[in-house]
Amino acid sequence: MQKVWILLVFVQLTFVSCGAQSTQTKEKKNTMSEAKKSPVYSRTDSGKVTMSEEEWKKILPSDVYYIARQKGTERPWTSKFEKFDEVGTYYCAACGNALFKSDTKFESGCGWPSFYEPISKSSIIYIPDNSLGMTRTEVECGRCKAHLGHVFDDGPPPTGLRYCINGVILDFEKAKATEKKYNEKKKDE
Ligand SMILES: [Zn+2]
Repeated sequence: MQKVWILLVFVQLTFVSCGAQSTQTKEKKNTMSEAKKSPVYSRTDSGKVTMSEEEWKKILPSDVYYIARQKGTERPWTSKFEKFDEVGTYYCAACGNALFKSDTKFESGCGWPSFYEPISKSSIIYIPDNSLGMTRTEVECGRCKAHLGHVFDDGPPPTGLRYCINGVILDFEKAKATEKKYNEKKKDE
């Protein structure tokens, strides 16, 4: 009888410790990005995101909503990314779409984070913008159509373009973190 009891306790202990372990792994995976982001935020899903303005308002922080959905402009010199030279990738803060690499970022002196080239052709959408009595080209996220900023033709080589982007809509990840996550993923497979 005692033997059976000991066995039961052992089985139960094993079960409990396994359970705890799997929860921990799950939490670890979520903390990097997804946990605090909107439900549509994904760095791997390239499917287009279409949502009503009302739904966006519910899931985005108010400053991101103002820029992304109401085509707002943050005050110049206020973004932490304006003077920022870490190596990594900039993603859309609303949906996680990869937008720019840090090696295409440059100091434009205009007050907003500036890049000379997007990460890929499909990462950005171009829209003529004639508001405020100016002829400009608006740039939006290619996945969720969040307003990012504008593109001008006074940038440096090789493109000669200046993507003037609101820092609020950018989500940065250091290159090392990306590499680490990639390795962790490989280990899991
Ligand atoms: Zn987006």
